[in-house]
Amino acid sequence: MQPVLAAALAAMLAVALACGSGARPSPAPAPTPPLRLGHVDLVVFAPHPDDEAIGAGGVLQQAVAAGRRVLVVFATNGDGYPDAAAALFDEAAAALRPADYLRLAAERQREAIAADRALGVGPSSLVFLGYPDGALAGLPASAAAAPLRSPATGLTATYGIARPDYHTLAHGRPAPYDRAAALGDVEEVLAASWPAQVYAPDPADQHPDHWATYGLVHDAIAATGWNGAVRTFVAHSGARFEWPWPHGSTPGAAFAEHVVAGAAYPAGVPWPPPVRVRLTPVQSAAKLRALAAHRSQWALPLTRLYMASFVKSEEVFWTPTSSAGPG
Ligand SMILES: [Zn+2]
Repeated sequence: MQPVLAAALAAMLAVALACGSGARPSPAPAPTPPLRLGHVDLVVFAPHPDDEAIGAGGVLQQAVAAGRRVLVVFATNGDGYPDAAAALFDEAAAALRPADYLRLAAERQREAIAADRALGVGPSSLVFLGYPDGALAGLPASAAAAPLRSPATGLTATYGIARPDYHTLAHGRPAPYDRAAALGDVEEVLAASWPAQVYAPDPADQHPDHWATYGLVHDAIAATGWNGAVRTFVAHSGARFEWPWPHGSTPGAAFAEHVVAGAAYPAGVPWPPPVRVRLTPVQSAAKLRALAAHRSQWALPLTRLYMASFVKSEEVFWTPTSSAGPG
């Protein structure tokens, strides 16, 4: 880690935010814990801040309680969600500017820190890769092409605000928005942490950022030769929140397949799922608190209902074969 560079980056971004948001001062960045990427027992790859709690909030609690070391890796800062930014800053979505999306990123990083603390996971166990929300599947293949420009933030390279991005911490400079760079970061994190288990979105997840995150994890596994156990979770299936069902928190109920007009959800994965992890009522309650700590999401009524639907008496996972690809 290069603390001077990290501090300079944080100061630069704070100035950019202050300039872009009128008279409102930006809060001082939280102190950055040192980057300590050593061996851990379990890694959760989350496309956005909140997916770690949605997919594996119970598993993370159980791992921490058992004394196991965990790492949560966020592929994006969740900085491309207009509804969340509009609600958070009380602006019309059409009026949002890049500075607003950067403020959303800062807020979502802080929310992730608070949420994961509710799961027993401290800030030093969180890694933010800082790739663009909503655009992971569209990254150009390599640095030979111009990097992608995030339509939300206008940035072309990784960044963090409340917490610097991984590449800046590890290499002293951000990584361009291309797939080779993203894959390189995932490979480095996997090689350094070398966990027994990896949790990631399932390739059948219908959100492009989610199956694209699986694709990065899949390719990083192939490149590093890592041979631990992969468990996947489905966060998005169906265009109308068909999964999970019923909507809202039902901590006493197991996940169930949901059939709508002859189509079964979650789609593209077998039912019953091969791995079912029971949660205690206390763990389900802490998972709910962690989800609610992602306040920018929780503030949106439909999103809140959807997120709460993952609070059940268990968490369910699939085990894709090593040859499975994304999509
Ligand atoms: Zn997500």
